[in-house]
Amino acid sequence: MELIDGNKIAAEIIAELKADVATLPGRKPCLALVRVGEDPASVSYVTKKQKTSAEIGIESRLIFPPITISQQELFALVDQLNADSGVDGILVQSPLPKHLNELAVFSRIAAHKDVDGFHTLNLGKLAQEDDTGFVACTPAGIMELLQRSGVTLSGKHVVVLGRSLIVGKPAALLAMQRKAWANATVTVCHSQTANLAALTRQADVLIAAIGKPEFVTADMVKPGAIVIDVGVNRVPDATKKSGFRLTGDVHFPSVSPLCAKITPVPGGVGPMTVAMLMKNTVKARRQNSSES
Ligand code: NAP
Repeated sequence: MELIDGNKIAAEIIAELKADVATLPGRKPCLALVRVGEDPASVSYVTKKQKTSAEIGIESRLIFPPITISQQELFALVDQLNADSGVDGILVQSPLPKHLNELAVFSRIAAHKDVDGFHTLNLGKLAQEDDTGFVACTPAGIMELLQRSGVTLSGKHVVVLGRSLIVGKPAALLAMQRKAWANATVTVCHSQTANLAALTRQADVLIAAIGKPEFVTADMVKPGAIVIDVGVNRVPDATKKSGFRLTGDVHFPSVSPLCAKITPVPGGVGPMTVAMLMKNTVKARRQNSSES
């Protein structure tokens, strides 16, 4: 079994981006990070994004409206950032509080600044295989992890567990693209799928993104498969100072001995998500400057 080291691969990408940003004429790329409220996981994700931006030479603008912000006020904030020619990318950290319509906010962001790739136009471009769009960072990171680990998907059976807009659906679209490294045959499973284990056992590459701790067990995996564990779940653990530990959607102890390759949690897909956000921001800077 080979461990796919997301930290190492993300560090390579970050070094490449740093070198790339140094060659950019004019001002630095600028990423607006909007975080509503003080949700601890969101605080830690935004801090990580800010630190990585600084490492690469991307300017970050931090905007932290209170949890009481209304939909109209958040729209007005996004409109302001859309109109600001000094801002290349806008990220509104998910999840938003329940009183806000997340999808409406994502599509309010100008498509050419939508570095999270959730805007309807960018999702449409992904379906059309138009590379001028932005692809959601986690699925883009999964594909990059696979490619940089020497895995080609062509002709393989990829089973995606989960059909969310953020991970499952775009991951399936990417894996089936008409590209030399993609060209996979894809099955997408969700909570209403019958005979789930029979399907997952057919996977040459299994991508688990369901948000259920250690759901995928050894009996669900074909020996020699490649397993990408997207899940980030906090489970109580009295031995930890924080009172919890992070675990994926895959039961690592029983599944890993079976696999050809597997990603750990943490240290697999997570760091790639941040690296791909940075890549999208640099792409936005290049595209925006070529338009002006
Ligand atoms: P989500 O929006 O809750 O979607 C979960 C998907 O899993 C849904 O499609 C759901 O089916 C399906 N599902 C739930 N229970 C199932 C079951 N018992 N059997 C089969 N399918 C089931 O979650 P998400 O945003 O995609 O995130 C998934 C996981 O990835 C979470 O742990 C999240 O924290 C993690 N994540 C990690 C990163 C990272 O950077 N590492 C980024 C994003 C997300 P239905 O559609 O039928 O409800």
